[in-house]
Amino acid sequence: NVKDVKSGKNKVPAGRAGAAQYSTGVRKVTLIPGHGIGPEITVAVQKIFEAAKVPIEWDEVDVTAVRGPDGKFGIPQKAIDSVNANKIGLKGPLMTPVGKGYRSLNLALRKEFDLYANVRPCKSLDGIKTLYDNVDVVTIRENTEGEYSGIEHEIVDGVVQSIKLITEEASKRVAEFAFQFARDNKRKKVTAVHKANIMRMSDGLFLRCCRELATKYPDIKFEERYLDTVCLNMVQDPSKFDVLVMPNLYGDIMSDMCSGLVGGLGLTPSGNIGKNGALFESVHGTAPDIAGKDMANPTALLLSAIMMLRHLQLNEDADRVQNACYAVLREGKSLTGDLGGTGKCSEYTNAIISKL
Ligand code: NAD
Repeated sequence: NVKDVKSGKNKVPAGRAGAAQYSTGVRKVTLIPGHGIGPEITVAVQKIFEAAKVPIEWDEVDVTAVRGPDGKFGIPQKAIDSVNANKIGLKGPLMTPVGKGYRSLNLALRKEFDLYANVRPCKSLDGIKTLYDNVDVVTIRENTEGEYSGIEHEIVDGVVQSIKLITEEASKRVAEFAFQFARDNKRKKVTAVHKANIMRMSDGLFLRCCRELATKYPDIKFEERYLDTVCLNMVQDPSKFDVLVMPNLYGDIMSDMCSGLVGGLGLTPSGNIGKNGALFESVHGTAPDIAGKDMANPTALLLSAIMMLRHLQLNEDADRVQNACYAVLREGKSLTGDLGGTGKCSEYTNAIISKL
């Protein structure tokens, strides 16, 4: 109800669009520490949540790939069962070896739980020096198909084909998610990002779905822009943008670019959201170059965990942890190497705890 949202009644916190129903009281959350720096930054988040007395009980699972009946590596059944039961999870980065026989476990998780919308907010943070101080954009990326459908084959030696799959169903639901997200979060505009001038059929269909959904959200301004123009304008003046919705590959790239505008991958959270569950994770990977050295920046995973708290409607807990994290960033002490500091992951974690 637009009236209710405008008047502040029925205020829906960030990331609620498309949310499953969760119980109240202590929430059980699947925890996937992941690989590389994953376990270190996961421990950091656990320590901060424990100190903040956040009502979360972790259900920790290992997702070391197991070989399935088809001979390919996949997610262990225990991890699948845990996410199915809890319907919400926090996940560290997972390594995907390049080569035959390996499927991306990240892709497999998104497909398994039909987490069709990938939400990546990028907001300028006080204390982090960047080109602009007014970035506040949310990239909403279609998360199940497009260029990442995983349909690839070799036609003849030296010629391979990758299919970009776009369906009306997936395009409409992610477009609806984007408009609903904008409405729930009191945002003003949704920009559909596309290349329908070249990919007339696939991006054309995606764009038509966005246009159709736009008519159902007259309170949200709608615009359509070419991907290349958005890249140009985003680095020239990010204040031109608000919520952006786009096919899978474009969203993957665009959100990393936006991440660069607010201080890098160490600071960028994300949520993978479906009708029956959600997995929150940092945008960055396993950072093998610094793994095991207590050098990783846990902020991206912490901000992802804060998004998760808002998704669970634990807004006061989310605010408490977020304020402590922002206070440490503002102060500029104990920052990790990626932010120009000399602090260790553990020192930075303790600094946040001291602000709670
Ligand atoms: P990466 O994000 O792991 O690292 C890129 C650079 O950023 C490295 O120099 C790294 O040290 C730095 N960095 C990343 N996160 C950081 C943090 N929290 N604190 C400080 N510095 C940080 O990207 P990559 O090297 O291309 O990928 C490594 C592995 O991660 C690959 O196997 C890839 O498949 C996987 N990966 C997983 C996910 C995921 O699970 N969602 C996402 C991206 C990459």
